[in-house]
Amino acid sequence: MQKGSIGVTTENIFPVIKKFLYSDHEIFLRELVSNAVDATQKLKTLASHGEYNGSLDGLKVNVAVDKEKGTLTVSDNGIGMTAEDIDKYINQIAFSGAEEFLNKYKDNANAIIGHFGLGFYSAFMVAKKVEIRSLSYKEGAQAVSWICDGSPEYEMNEIEKAERGTDIILYIEDEEDKEFLENARIEALLRKYCKFLPVPVVFGKEQEWKDGKYVDTDRDNVINNIEPLWTRKPTELKDEDYLKFYHDILPGQDDPLFWIHLNVDFPFTLTGILYFPKIRNNIEINKNRIQLYCNQVFVTDSVEGVVPEFLMLLQGVIDSPDIPLNVSRSYLQSDSNVKKIASYITKKVAARLEEIAKNDPKNFEEKWNDIKLFIEYGMLTDEKFCEPAMKFALVEDTEGKFFKLEDYRKLIESAQADKEGNVVYLYATDKEQQYSYIKAATDKGYSVLLMNGQLDVHFIGMLEQKIEKSRFVRVDSDVIDNIIPSADKKEVDLSAAQRTMLTTMFRSQVPNIEKSEFFVSLESLSADAQPIVIVQSEYMRRMKDMAALQPGMSFYGELPDSYNLTLNVNHPVVKSVLDAAQSAVGSQVEALESDLAAANAAIKAINDAKGDKELDEAQKQQLADNEAKAADLRKQEETLLTEYANGQDKVKQLVDIALLGNGMLKGEALSKFLQRSISLL
Ligand code: ADP
Repeated sequence: MQKGSIGVTTENIFPVIKKFLYSDHEIFLRELVSNAVDATQKLKTLASHGEYNGSLDGLKVNVAVDKEKGTLTVSDNGIGMTAEDIDKYINQIAFSGAEEFLNKYKDNANAIIGHFGLGFYSAFMVAKKVEIRSLSYKEGAQAVSWICDGSPEYEMNEIEKAERGTDIILYIEDEEDKEFLENARIEALLRKYCKFLPVPVVFGKEQEWKDGKYVDTDRDNVINNIEPLWTRKPTELKDEDYLKFYHDILPGQDDPLFWIHLNVDFPFTLTGILYFPKIRNNIEINKNRIQLYCNQVFVTDSVEGVVPEFLMLLQGVIDSPDIPLNVSRSYLQSDSNVKKIASYITKKVAARLEEIAKNDPKNFEEKWNDIKLFIEYGMLTDEKFCEPAMKFALVEDTEGKFFKLEDYRKLIESAQADKEGNVVYLYATDKEQQYSYIKAATDKGYSVLLMNGQLDVHFIGMLEQKIEKSRFVRVDSDVIDNIIPSADKKEVDLSAAQRTMLTTMFRSQVPNIEKSEFFVSLESLSADAQPIVIVQSEYMRRMKDMAALQPGMSFYGELPDSYNLTLNVNHPVVKSVLDAAQSAVGSQVEALESDLAAANAAIKAINDAKGDKELDEAQKQQLADNEAKAADLRKQEETLLTEYANGQDKVKQLVDIALLGNGMLKGEALSKFLQRSISLL
């Protein structure tokens, strides 16, 4: 028998372990099973070097609970340990500056465990006493036991042990740790941490239902899949394999859209499979669906920092021994290896998508609307992803056709350019609501994109920056002839009085709509274009869209929506309205207009004469008189034209039709419109 003291500088390390590592108690099991797995793996390594010639059959780890004795045992048939080994690996744990370190990292059990190679000692987080019983693989080895009750003193004895390998026996006594004597709890932990360990981990026997109760069969209850998919060669795997694995790790989901098998061994080692999930709705987006493994040992499913932010929406597994798991998040994010890993993953995801887009464009198009969110998000947040993605990202037109950005540019380049040589990308956000605007554009031979995704507002802004000489304009932001001005666009050829008549009459018949204001503008469009449409300027709308998304911009959000009621002065109906007004009130308006012109000319003359001198009293008076006169004349015009327009059903009808076309005619105004329409029949 040998007695001794564990090489710890701190008087008694175990209470410290127990106290500081409290929150992560359960990981002791991961540590012990990992050690057991390592011990079996080492045997394989020795065999491959010719240092072990025995059998490698039946290597496994066994976990067992004995509730009566209060023990939990982790056994393996790996390399085992001699007394010397135990001395070296268990007794002399290097604990220089232990206390200092523990204080620094007290919130992070992983850090402590990793730093000290404290894996084995984590057993003391839950056990009062721990016993090792081991027989080394070495020829003629003597089996030994090691017992320690949590004080730095241990005891070692020679024992009888027939089988090669190690049993670690935990004597669990504290009430708070009794949960680790429950079969269900242990099985759940094994399934969490050990599901993909490379050596079979056995926990009791499989059970079956017999004579009204569950009974053990003679088949081992193997917890893990020892050869998880990501460790296998992509060339050996079929789609079914990837789908099956996906459903194994993430039950209850729809089939994923695509997957990416990661496999790199330089300059770091990383394997894994990432899936693009099919998202049924927004609520489902769950960011913690990537599991991180370290040599097939589950570590965590919170992968912030390791996986680029935009890829957090992906699901699957990543396995890398090179990710420093035992450090804090902030350290992780600044680690250069981790940065390389993140950018590798980004590159790989982009390459895979490009490959699918190229080799299977139909499949890619079909799934585009499901993956669009990821891709746009990635392009918006990650420059490294954006660049390759510009090559495969698709846009969809209102007819449901898909184009790569470059192809689309070529398609519209010559037909849809403005005077400054910018290519105008027309888009709609709602095919139904903006139908007439889309039609006006497509009738002219233009193409209209559908941009109705959650991120499209931002995406459009980004594309404008990325694509040289491009401008995105929503189809209803102006009449199409203004959005893409054609060379033969005509000026409005009307007198001042005629302009006033049209604008004032139509403006006067717009019903009151909350938080909206309307202006009337005149356009000389072709006779078969619409007589009247409502448009909202691209600029104003974007400002308001952004205000809705960003709290700091509420100023824009509070502004009323301003709309333009655009009249086509060449349309026969508009012409007939103008002709009728002309004969009814034309001469009165002309007289008022000429008085108004005189007043305005007088105002201008006074201001011009003044130069940079102060006005004298007489001039000031003159100015004020003329301004009052002009205002009064405008008022008279307005009253005259409003009263006249009040009796003009055609004007009302045209205004209402425009509002209706924009979904803005509601309530009383809508009901009046319907009555008027019927009476017109
Ligand atoms: P680490 O695993 O990080 O080295 P541990 O404290 O978990 O630290 O283990 C210390 C050493 O003890 C291991 O490196 C190994 O040599 C030995 N050891 C632990 N458990 C076993 C086991 N089940 N079989 C053989 N050797 C073991």
